[in-house]
Amino acid sequence: MTAQVDYGPRDALLVVDMQNDFCEGGALAVEGGGGLVPGINAEIDAARQAGALIIASRDWHPIDHISFEHRGGPWPVHCVQDTEGAAFHPDLALDDTTIRVSKATAFDADAYSAFDGTGLAGYLKEKGIERVVICGLALDVCVRATVLAARDAGFATLLLGQLSAAVEPDAVPDCRREFEDAGAEVRA
Ligand SMILES: [Zn+2]
Repeated sequence: MTAQVDYGPRDALLVVDMQNDFCEGGALAVEGGGGLVPGINAEIDAARQAGALIIASRDWHPIDHISFEHRGGPWPVHCVQDTEGAAFHPDLALDDTTIRVSKATAFDADAYSAFDGTGLAGYLKEKGIERVVICGLALDVCVRATVLAARDAGFATLLLGQLSAAVEPDAVPDCRREFEDAGAEVRA
């Protein structure tokens, strides 16, 4: 597959939550999740060759996290630290230069955005990053929050729509409008 983006050293490719629990067969599977992997790998490869930063975020919950249904939260148990479900999709082309960002690691707080509580915005600024290119799961939940947070932090933001999938496909048009209103570019 060919990458969609011309990357440069001031770009960060941010791959959101491409974990087993969000792919087919996982605890909180998003339809079409696993099918994104080849396209995302093409972006990772192009970004790596261009000297862009590559970041992979992951949902990384303790047992009994507040977002789980038995604690009154909205979601089934998912992405518990060090379980197979929390592991990145096995075919995702991460290497030891990929920066892993773990979020929602506290018992009592959830975090949808890869920027929430992680220090990521400051780190990217320190590295001279100007544009964040975003793909991954799920478009209407954690990708949505991450796109909006990237704009809030002042980064040029590009969402790769074909390399993201939604929990509720009906929510996609509203999400896209919201991204564009926030000044993010959405590539169909
Ligand atoms: Zn979660």
